[in-house]
Amino acid sequence: MKCESCGAPVMSLGRSGRYFCDYCDTEAVVTPLDESLDGLVLTGTFSETPCLTCGDTHLEIGSLDRHAIKGCRRCQGILISRSSFALLVHERRAAYGGADITPEFDPALDGPRDHHSRLMCPNCCVPMDSFFYAGPGRVAIDSCDRCERVWLDCGEITAITEAPGRR
Ligand SMILES: [Zn+2]
Ligand SMILES: [Zn+2]
Ligand SMILES: [Zn+2]
Repeated sequence: MKCESCGAPVMSLGRSGRYFCDYCDTEAVVTPLDESLDGLVLTGTFSETPCLTCGDTHLEIGSLDRHAIKGCRRCQGILISRSSFALLVHERRAAYGGADITPEFDPALDGPRDHHSRLMCPNCCVPMDSFFYAGPGRVAIDSCDRCERVWLDCGEITAITEAPGRR
């Protein structure tokens, strides 16, 4: 993402969820990825972190609502801190006004990863745990206990948001 006023490449995410230019302090317009189910915003600025599932592409600096994340443009997976994830779930469920949706669930595709296919935490280089998210929705997430980051596959935050249960 480039600042429309001065062309600077790097943006800071404000607490409001808006991006500001580090150089001239103007607000930058962010557009979610065209095809993103989850409303993923990516800045075009690549991080050092390889995508956990694609491997051969790097995660971009980005955001979901007001929360800083790293995301993959190809698979639309999301690396987010556990605390931001908890807040995001709370905020999105509270804001959701649509019908409760229980999506199709295929245990082979959508269940926790088996012992041999665990993802490696890019920060700690240890295998991440894979388990059913304890909240609404039948969604398997990957989590690193050491650095408290969570990996979400494309569509998982939306499935959690739309699942039946207390809002
Ligand atoms: Zn600027
Ligand atoms: Zn990817
Ligand atoms: Zn970690």
